[in-house]
Amino acid sequence: RADVALYRAKQAGRNRTMLESKNPSVLADELRAALAQDLLDVHYQPIFSIPAPSRIVGIEALVRFPTSSQPDTTLDEAIRVAEQSDLIRGIDMFVLRHACTDAVALDQSPDTSVRFLHVNVSGLVLADSTYSEVVADILAATGWPADRLVLEVTETALDAETPSAFENICRIRKAGSRIAIDDFGTGYSSLSRLETMPVDMVKLDGSFVRSITEESGRPRLLAGIASLCAALNMPVVVEGVETAYQAAVLADLGYSLAQGFHLGRPVPAAELSRITPRGLELHQPSVPGAPLNG
Ligand code: C2E
Ligand code: MG
Ligand code: MG
Ligand code: MG
Repeated sequence: RADVALYRAKQAGRNRTMLESKNPSVLADELRAALAQDLLDVHYQPIFSIPAPSRIVGIEALVRFPTSSQPDTTLDEAIRVAEQSDLIRGIDMFVLRHACTDAVALDQSPDTSVRFLHVNVSGLVLADSTYSEVVADILAATGWPADRLVLEVTETALDAETPSAFENICRIRKAGSRIAIDDFGTGYSSLSRLETMPVDMVKLDGSFVRSITEESGRPRLLAGIASLCAALNMPVVVEGVETAYQAAVLADLGYSLAQGFHLGRPVPAAELSRITPRGLELHQPSVPGAPLNG
């Protein structure tokens, strides 16, 4: 199919380094075996409100594979291989079902109740003509409410301009779920497309936050993105917050949602209850020096 070919061509550039150093067919065989033997797991990384006192407003489901025989394989690499070998459908459906089931159980305890469940979906899966029906079936079967599901889709998936993907997005949003654009700022789409893309929320790639250090001075780009997204009425989750200083600077710039190792790492569902109270007690230092958005 032409749309799939276009999507894969776009991914190919990103894959080149990996394909030179690893054997993708070995990895594909391992992923296929793990899926068949039910060895996949799902961890959850909280999404916090900032500034402190922070609350957990959502959790993001992240798939976990058994360790590969090719030791330094990253999850991003495994997902690319899964996309090239059609394993991605089984993986994404497993994660959606598993995450909805876990979220329903977590929601029954006041310690771990979360408003939104975020689930990543590959652009290839999103382009399947039956995808929105499968999502509806999984929500019905597990009992997780449609209006508390956020599907995270990368920019690449959206700029392939696949009609079936856009139809799915339309039906999914009509059912009350939301679409977040993941890793925003790393793809090819221009900022102006934010206004026309059928998305409800931005997840700003961690590379933007990495530039915030105590020495770096005023982060102009982040200030600009904050005002752009505010003008478009688009909530933003800032990914990759690794220090208290970064969280404080972001809050000062007007960002209200953040995710990152400083706030909470991905953990198994059973460990989320231990993160919640710590999240509530998070204290961020004040930002020294001149006001950042003055
Ligand atoms: P993502 O959706 O952008 O998820 C964020 C990634 O950044 C996760 O890596 C998370 O562990 C990591 N991360 C979170 N906070 C920090 C931080 O403060 N610093 C740094 N350096 N990293 C941080 P992970 O779990 O390895 O996932 C990588 C990517 O794999 C995800 O990026 C997503 O694109 C993809 N992925 C994960 N689960 C699924 C899935 O079920 N389906 C699909 N299609 N893709 C998935
Ligand atoms: Mg994501
Ligand atoms: Mg991301
Ligand atoms: Mg990512």
